[in-house]
Amino acid sequence: MARVACRVPWLQEEIAFVLPPILTFLADFVPDRMTLSVQGWHLDEPAARLTLQVTATRTRVRCPLCHALTRRVPSWYPRTLADLPWGPYTVHLHLRVRKFFCDQPTCPCQIFTERLPTVAVPWARRTRRLAQRLRACGLALGGEMGARLGHRLGLRTRPATLLRLVQGTPTPAASAPQALGVDEWAWRRGQRYGTILVNLEDHQVLDLLPERSADLVAHWLSQHPTVTVVCRDRSALYADGIRRGAPHAVEVVDRFHLVSNLREAVEAFLHDQRPALQTAAACTAQALTQVAGPVAAPPMYRGRHRCSQAWQQRQEAAQQHRHAAWVATYEAIHTLRAQGTPVTTIAAQLGISRPTVYAYLRRTRPPSPRSPQRSGQVLRPYMAYLIQRWREGCTDSMQLWRETRALGYAHSARTVSRFITRLRQASAAGWAPETQASPYTRPQGPSARAGSFTWVRPEAKRAQDAQLYVDHLLQTDPAIAQAYTLSQAFLVLVRERRGDALAAWITEASASGVEALARFAQGLQEDLTAITAGLTLPWSNGPVEGHINRLKLLKRQGYGRAGVGLLRQRLIQAV
Ligand SMILES: [Zn+2]
Repeated sequence: MARVACRVPWLQEEIAFVLPPILTFLADFVPDRMTLSVQGWHLDEPAARLTLQVTATRTRVRCPLCHALTRRVPSWYPRTLADLPWGPYTVHLHLRVRKFFCDQPTCPCQIFTERLPTVAVPWARRTRRLAQRLRACGLALGGEMGARLGHRLGLRTRPATLLRLVQGTPTPAASAPQALGVDEWAWRRGQRYGTILVNLEDHQVLDLLPERSADLVAHWLSQHPTVTVVCRDRSALYADGIRRGAPHAVEVVDRFHLVSNLREAVEAFLHDQRPALQTAAACTAQALTQVAGPVAAPPMYRGRHRCSQAWQQRQEAAQQHRHAAWVATYEAIHTLRAQGTPVTTIAAQLGISRPTVYAYLRRTRPPSPRSPQRSGQVLRPYMAYLIQRWREGCTDSMQLWRETRALGYAHSARTVSRFITRLRQASAAGWAPETQASPYTRPQGPSARAGSFTWVRPEAKRAQDAQLYVDHLLQTDPAIAQAYTLSQAFLVLVRERRGDALAAWITEASASGVEALARFAQGLQEDLTAITAGLTLPWSNGPVEGHINRLKLLKRQGYGRAGVGLLRQRLIQAV
């Protein structure tokens, strides 16, 4: 071998470059140099294809059945394997695969093909190391995007091939989970759900089931007898599955779901307190906007986009139509429920989601004809500027949209226009424009839903206007103050994990006379053991929720076409 010494300008040391025979050199780059030896090579320049002719080095091979050594080779056949590319060249191994005779007279295997487990799996048309890289592309990005990335990296492939590789990836040996988190995930929101199972100790996804069903959960649990703790939501369905599949496991209700249920009860309570919500908003507005009085509403722009009377009538008719539909739904749900129809059946019959059915059931009277409020979160940072410009007399929403865009606002002109309309309406009603900057100072007050979120949020995390609003709201009515004290006491139980005090809280809430909370307390009573465990043990479904968010991303990457098998592989075998 000739050695050539050469000084590389950017390195201090001298590198001894080597000129070996080309086949010795190429042998360093085949997948397993102990198994394969290079016999020749061919470079097809126009096709940018390098073909290496290789043979297996071993002369004696073991029979796969009786494991006896043999060296009799009756024949061979050619096999071509794609390998990792080298620069712009695709690389192929042209392999002579030998067939061997087994010499043991008792062995049923008379002739067998040589196996090369370190190089490629049987029947594969690519080497293991190429398949590994393609599989990583598929697991990270799915078929279509994975194939596109592969092309950029010189790994030519098709989406279907990647999907096949991902589907064929063996599942890692199952651990023996002890603490399990179970929750539902949506195939399609409100219509079709599946189940996700997560190991709460190491936060790894254990399985993805195609349905939200007690039978599937029971079956899965019966095959995993190591599970001793299961964390779940409040649904009776999973409770049933757990009781059948793992009767000895401790059931734990997730605390997030408990707080969520409390918030829904508070929302139902606030639905009936609309006058108080408005009074509190007026008091908050007074306290926060004393400096600036109302501005006279400038005349409305009556140009191209003039709102005709016919248009307004159409809007009102549409609103009445919507309201009539809400009332009809409310009545249909309450009638069906009174007849003992299950919630799932009601949802399917009326074509709405289960959460919507529950929300209607929590109401004691039909919804009011108000349209839902939009939060306008994206506009919040620019509201002060818009109000200042409004006070200066600029009321052209397109002009104001252009100005806010210059300040960094990146959303639609329609949102700005809606806010300007609200300023106009507020001015007409004699309110200062500043009241519109926050849902807590608007004349109509926040919605019951928005109010309930503020209600359950810890005080330390509330904004100043929200806290002021809650203070005013509690002063308007002693019943509201009582409901607030009760719900805060429950939140303390959740945050401090005081399961021992739950029974006392339930007694107090049931006797309080606050109907929504009494109903919530009655619901807790029905699942008392699991909820007490949830308020005592450290387990929670936080890791499950994280994986559900990841699953949403994977679903969208597949444009809604990925099946449960692919989603399961991509979720479990994260790159
Ligand atoms: Zn044999």
